Amino acid sequence: MYPVPTSLSPSRVEAFTSCPMAFRFASIEKLPEPPSIHATKGSMVHRVLELLFMRPAVERTLVTAQPAFDQAMAEYRLDPEFTLLGLTDAQQQAFFDDAWTLVEAYFAMEDPTSIREIGLEIRLEAQVGSLALRGIIDRLELDEEGRLVVTDYKTGRAPGLQYEQSRLAGVHFYSFLCEQVLGQRPAAIRLMYLRTGETITATPSAQSVRFITTRTTAVWKAVEKACLTDNFQPRQGALCKSCAFQPWCPAFGGDPSLAAVEAPVRFRPTVAA
Ligand code: SF4
Repeated sequence: MYPVPTSLSPSRVEAFTSCPMAFRFASIEKLPEPPSIHATKGSMVHRVLELLFMRPAVERTLVTAQPAFDQAMAEYRLDPEFTLLGLTDAQQQAFFDDAWTLVEAYFAMEDPTSIREIGLEIRLEAQVGSLALRGIIDRLELDEEGRLVVTDYKTGRAPGLQYEQSRLAGVHFYSFLCEQVLGQRPAAIRLMYLRTGETITATPSAQSVRFITTRTTAVWKAVEKACLTDNFQPRQGALCKSCAFQPWCPAFGGDPSLAAVEAPVRFRPTVAA
């Protein structure tokens, strides 16, 4: 039996629905994981865009993005999330070159001098019954008519059509939080896929917001049941090939009860950081 979590974020909801066993290792037992190039690069690009948007609107050009990029690069060179990747000099160069390509790709998608942002990296929290729902919004802005728009940057590829709705569920989650905390439902939620230059836009409705509370409550009940019965099932899929917990996953012949002892040893550099 494990303690039942009292809060959920969009990524935790997705993590549980993707694989309850991996969710147990990461979110219930809170075991360390090695950093990944993809996630670290994504967070660095988010940081560059955050620094860019701290400038007055007229100054947000590709030229001024360079010092923002340099600052983020200096920060990440000291960050364990980056240093523990153990990249060679050539690999580090390739990492930063690719990160800069994503920043350039952003400028090809929109003109940041025209954005009327009202907040960056905003943390929102709302209660649903005894459960706290939490999320961080990359950017909240006003459109030409003064309505709220939520924008979320993605550094991976755009999902195929069959996955688009599940990706949007995370963004509808943000629109639910806006409505609860700021008292206004956003007019649009946008996912900007920098890698492919695609933007997926959805219009939240009373129905989509209701769907989020229903779905999140259902997921939370499933999490609660799994914690109380110690029954987290592995769900094999595309995530398995990059799953750090595979050595302890029963679907791959592992013993999950050993993970709490062995994972911190195996990933000790991450823990020491
Ligand atoms: S290896 Fe696959 S099935 Fe096992 S915990 Fe990881 S994601 Fe889940």
